[in-house]
Amino acid sequence: MEEPDILIVGAGSAGLTLALLLATAPHSQQLQIMVVDQADAPSAANVGYKRVSALNLASMRLFTQLDVWQNIAAKPAYQHMQVFEADSFAKIEFDALQSALPELGFIIDNEDLRLALYQRALEFPQITLKLGLGIAKLDATARHNLVTLSNDERILARLVVGADGANSKVRQLLKMPMMFWDYDHHALVAVVRTAEPHGQTARQVFLPTGPLALLPLADPHLCSIVWSTAPADAAELVACEPTTFNQRLTAAGQSMLGVCELQSSREVYPLKMRYVSQWVQQKVVLVADAAHTIHPLAGQGMNLGLMDVAALAELIDEKMSKQQDWQSDAVLRRYERWRKAQAQQMIATMEAFKRGFMTQHPALKLVRALGMKLTDQLPQLKNKILASALGNEGDLPLRAREKPSL
Ligand SMILES: Cc1cc2nc3c(=O)[nH]c(=O)nc-3n(C[C@H](O)[C@H](O)[C@H](O)COP(=O)(O)OP(=O)(O)OC[C@H]3O[C@@H](n4cnc5c(N)ncnc54)[C@H](O)[C@@H]3O)c2cc1C
Repeated sequence: MEEPDILIVGAGSAGLTLALLLATAPHSQQLQIMVVDQADAPSAANVGYKRVSALNLASMRLFTQLDVWQNIAAKPAYQHMQVFEADSFAKIEFDALQSALPELGFIIDNEDLRLALYQRALEFPQITLKLGLGIAKLDATARHNLVTLSNDERILARLVVGADGANSKVRQLLKMPMMFWDYDHHALVAVVRTAEPHGQTARQVFLPTGPLALLPLADPHLCSIVWSTAPADAAELVACEPTTFNQRLTAAGQSMLGVCELQSSREVYPLKMRYVSQWVQQKVVLVADAAHTIHPLAGQGMNLGLMDVAALAELIDEKMSKQQDWQSDAVLRRYERWRKAQAQQMIATMEAFKRGFMTQHPALKLVRALGMKLTDQLPQLKNKILASALGNEGDLPLRAREKPSL
């Protein structure tokens, strides 16, 4: 029976990043780490902007530290952001130059990122990757965890990390209590060609039915869209003829980039807020989407999960540097407290955004539009909002922080 120190369930962005963070830190690099995933190894054949994520600067710094950033094939940067409301004067714009920044963020293909992380993980002898195998059973005790994989193989691990996404099997096997609500939105994701160039601008328009994001890709006329709308509307949008879809999308986007034309298949994701009330049970801990999911309207879900794993890795390494018990309850609870505070704040912000923008009451719409206009004219307030969204401010793990300028 194999006996790694840490078994990470899930080789998504969070699971693989955690393995690399542990393997590259001064003290935790001694640990034997195993990563299992029911999916096969990522492959270049699956890269193609099917699902993309907007990564903030804190996540970029983390991947640069891990020598992963340079191996992500395409990572177009965006220099501008525009958020506005359909049928009102409400608008707020952000500009990298005005904030003395080279860029505001990057758009990466999720599979491309996974591939770069996977290839880097192969370089470390202390990381064992078992792909194409799910977990079937988990017996967690106060001392260790006995895990049975889908091929009946058994693994004994001192710590198990559930990085197995929104429908986490680890969470289900341990019956970890979770709060959730439906956002009453499904997100339609696709790649579209736009008549006008996107100009490295990430755009978000708030429609009465929900937000539509156009994220700029490397080709100046290609955008990845995330169109969150009522489930019945999303079902119609995914099934309609491409010409109808193009018309509806062009109209929904206020023709801001001219006529839009579908370039890919259309995928739909139901959106739910999930929040696990206890992230730690015995020697098992949850991270990223396994512990929380949020509305994608601000493009923060993956960024949040990456900071979870950076925090956990930091605390483990710190304990090992003092030759103390790195998987004690105190360490795991400290991680939980740290990251729960951040997740709760993000969930509340998404809820305020969603509710704030969904109201159609004329007086509230006016207040909202005035508020956005005023904010847009206050550079200090705008920079504050930006710094927090970009991961340049807040209670960040050390390896994700901005280096102080000398
Ligand atoms: C439409 C949409 C748009 C989004 N856009 C953004 C964005 O712009 N920016 C951003 O920051 N975030 C965004 N997000 C959120 C982001 O995609 C997620 O937060 C992130 O991918 C979660 O990563 P993860 O590693 O926790 O989970 P996942 O990526 O889901 O990985 C979990 C892994 O666990 C494996 N697994 C599952 N069950 C088992 C099992 N039983 N045994 C073994 N392995 C298992 C899976 O195969 C998978 O590889 C978006 C989300 C959606 C839905």
